[in-house]
Amino acid sequence: MRRIAVVGAGQAGAQLALGLQAHGYDVTLVADREPDEIRRGPVMSSQCMFDTALQSERELGLHHWEDQAPDISGIAFSLIGPHGTPDVSWRATLEGPAHSVDQRVKCAAWIEQFADGGRGEVVLHEAGVNDLEWYARTHDLVVVSTGKGELSQLFPCNSELSPYDRPRRALALTYVTGAAPREEAGALHYRMVPGVGEYFSFPALTTTGPCDIMVFEGVPGGPMDCWDDIRTPEGHLTRSLEILHRFFPDEYERHRHARLTDSGGVLRGRLTPTVRHPVARLASGRHVLGMADAVVLNDPITGQGANNAAQAATHYLDSILRHGTAEFTPQWMQRTFDHFWRGWAQWAVGWTNSLLTDLSPHHRDLLTAAAETPSVADALAAGFDDPRTLYRWWFEEAEAHRFLAEKRAQHAARFDGRELRRALGQYATGVTVVTARAPDGRNVGMTANSFTSVSLNPPLVLWCPGKNSPSLPDFTDASHFAVHILAADQHHLSRQFATPADDKFRGTPTTPGIAGTPLLDGAVARFQCRTVQRLDAGDHIIFLGEVEQYEADGGTPLVFHSGYYQVATKHPDM
Ligand SMILES: Cc1cc2nc3c(=O)[nH]c(=O)nc-3n(C[C@H](O)[C@H](O)[C@H](O)COP(=O)(O)OP(=O)(O)OC[C@H]3O[C@@H](n4cnc5c(N)ncnc54)[C@H](O)[C@@H]3O)c2cc1C
Repeated sequence: MRRIAVVGAGQAGAQLALGLQAHGYDVTLVADREPDEIRRGPVMSSQCMFDTALQSERELGLHHWEDQAPDISGIAFSLIGPHGTPDVSWRATLEGPAHSVDQRVKCAAWIEQFADGGRGEVVLHEAGVNDLEWYARTHDLVVVSTGKGELSQLFPCNSELSPYDRPRRALALTYVTGAAPREEAGALHYRMVPGVGEYFSFPALTTTGPCDIMVFEGVPGGPMDCWDDIRTPEGHLTRSLEILHRFFPDEYERHRHARLTDSGGVLRGRLTPTVRHPVARLASGRHVLGMADAVVLNDPITGQGANNAAQAATHYLDSILRHGTAEFTPQWMQRTFDHFWRGWAQWAVGWTNSLLTDLSPHHRDLLTAAAETPSVADALAAGFDDPRTLYRWWFEEAEAHRFLAEKRAQHAARFDGRELRRALGQYATGVTVVTARAPDGRNVGMTANSFTSVSLNPPLVLWCPGKNSPSLPDFTDASHFAVHILAADQHHLSRQFATPADDKFRGTPTTPGIAGTPLLDGAVARFQCRTVQRLDAGDHIIFLGEVEQYEADGGTPLVFHSGYYQVATKHPDM
């Protein structure tokens, strides 16, 4: 029986501990407060979590507040101009609703659920370095998920990935009830005032029931950096209303009779966004692995931290399960983090950090164009849910212009692209990874569900990469490609090969096939094909290949339906 200690029972730690417990691991969950103490204590976050992160909770049966948490179904954005009125405003619908469940509610309930789970134990204390030594001696693996707590200092700062050496915003949270309803209820209202800061607000579920959360992000030294003299919760509410009155009069009118949810419903502070090395060596020579905020601390400006923490828990759980009974070496720890970094965190961090400096011209163009082109607004909203989708157009100026041209052209066309994609997504497919060897010897690969068998005699199959796929030129130049139909337990490969990276194969063993095509193991079936024809088809290219060799080891395939990974089961009537 593998013994794992998870130190810190917040979003990431509690989620990972419950996931491991469900898989039969013997877990010690270290929490620094009793659940009731957490409920009675101060708020810790605004914790707006988007659908993709919520899905990771749902997969573990942990999103218990589906019906109580108010839906946040869209993003309503305004860029405020120099005269205090919006220069730009748009509203976009999220593909699935976001929820904000007060971490006092969520983490307290998760710790209780873990304690009731029968296996493992909750240990209540604020762990220090000596305690980590003890856990490392008595457990196979120690995961440190203590958020912004002091233990994160064990992990050295990675200065290459941490562009800032001081806080970029003065932060404040105000949880209120009794605000007047607004027209666009159920949205995350996001206002950006260049040079001053950002204000966002959205509905949430707190310890007393539904509420509204206001988040203030003041540029240091600016007029929204005004919290240092506040001493009481009432003073905090008054200052919040003063800011609204000065910068967002409509929000002031709505909130003028609002009251705090409870005396713990306020928070003020600053943090320096920091990425740390994920493996720490203790004095004894033993190693511990950092997770979520402890090693990837984001400013809340894009509301990514709790989402990132849920993704970290998912990636780490996956990595632990796949490691079986092998030893948890420092190399495995580093690989586990690298997987998470490449597959998720780098995009969340890159996007968040990009908003902590002055808006660059292409960012302003994108935010402005969203007002006239709804699909640009939808894409920006989708970036909150999955920051990987912002690649490359948010990050690169030339790509931003190409993206805008494409979206404008689509806007003039017949269908709403997102609706059409949603309709087509009703067709359940398997998931494949298609690989090839580029003429210069590089291995290339991408996830595709556009695979179809075409003919038995001759044996032909097809698949369709998009014209914007970065590896399309390599597939075009390669003589062969290999299609791997993924097994249900290979969803990590689907994510890995769907995420842009210099080397998508890092950490994944391959063997060379026909024409050096890299072959992956573990697929339910694998087809090595020679490209016999390429057809231009709208924004995609159809690759027709003749199967030259195949293996079909069988097993349970990974299924994709309606935007989610699924597992196929036999129909009960058959
Ligand atoms: C003002 C603000 C607003 C935010 N808004 C959002 C948002 O809207 N959306 C979003 O996604 N994210 C948001 N975040 C970020 C989000 O809250 C965090 O990124 C997320 O909670 C990180 O999860 P974690 O598990 O790493 O750490 P945490 O959730 O902080 O959990 C760490 C846990 O470890 C405990 N701990 C600390 N030290 C010790 C110790 N020595 N021993 C034992 N236990 C210890 C802590 O008490 C805590 O319970 C916000 C953050 C702030 C500050």
